[in-house]
Amino acid sequence: MIIANWKCNGSKSMISEWVSDFSVNYIETNGPFIGIAPPSIYIENVLANIPTKLTGVNIGSQDIDTSSGARTGAVSSEMILDYGCKFSIIGHSERRQFYNERNDDIRRKILNIANKTLTILCVGETEEENKNDLTKDVLKKQLEVIEEIDFNDSLVIAYEPVWAIGTGNTPTPDNINEIHKFIKDVVQSTTRNSEIPLVLYGGSVNEDNAENFFKEEFVDGALIGGASLNGRQFANIINIYNGINSK
Ligand code: PEP
Repeated sequence: MIIANWKCNGSKSMISEWVSDFSVNYIETNGPFIGIAPPSIYIENVLANIPTKLTGVNIGSQDIDTSSGARTGAVSSEMILDYGCKFSIIGHSERRQFYNERNDDIRRKILNIANKTLTILCVGETEEENKNDLTKDVLKKQLEVIEEIDFNDSLVIAYEPVWAIGTGNTPTPDNINEIHKFIKDVVQSTTRNSEIPLVLYGGSVNEDNAENFFKEEFVDGALIGGASLNGRQFANIINIYNGINSK
């Protein structure tokens, strides 16, 4: 699974350029689930621009709110389902940091979409927590939001160390593999159906380093921010993933 998180970037002209760069470079296979999460105001535009022959490309939302109604500026779970979004990214560290989201908000969001569309739950430690060897404790706490929820295979976890997002720094592939195994074990022991979710790595993935991560046993794909804004580069990362997984 390879997901593009465009965050608060893009424009109508960027989307047409992106789609044409992506289409020229993407080698279509029956490969992984591919998702694009544009800013919600552009979802319809991306849907209209993606050539119908690119059947494996799915649109998702970057977030949803905890509820609908008197919530100025918000996008609700009903709205993203109405648009046919195939996934939603929940609990991104930027939401936790800039919008002060806590575990109970994140759990409410997840409950709105669990089993209706894919939940991509982001977890990850800060640099300080990493230095203090608290990574596993932090992840365990963040993963409490899914306790006793029945996802029926609609849960994906993205391991995104906060210190790796947009910085060019990453954990070693070995480290990432170990943490992904840990996440799978924690989720299996806490969800109602003992789910073993796909676990994506996110944080400064690009076309030069992606191969190193994709080769690891417990890395099931990537969530990509900066590098996904370039249609050529995003297509190349998917091609790299397919090259490794078709061997
Ligand atoms: C992200 O914020 O989800 C992310 C992975 O960003 P980047 O790839 O730019 O580090």
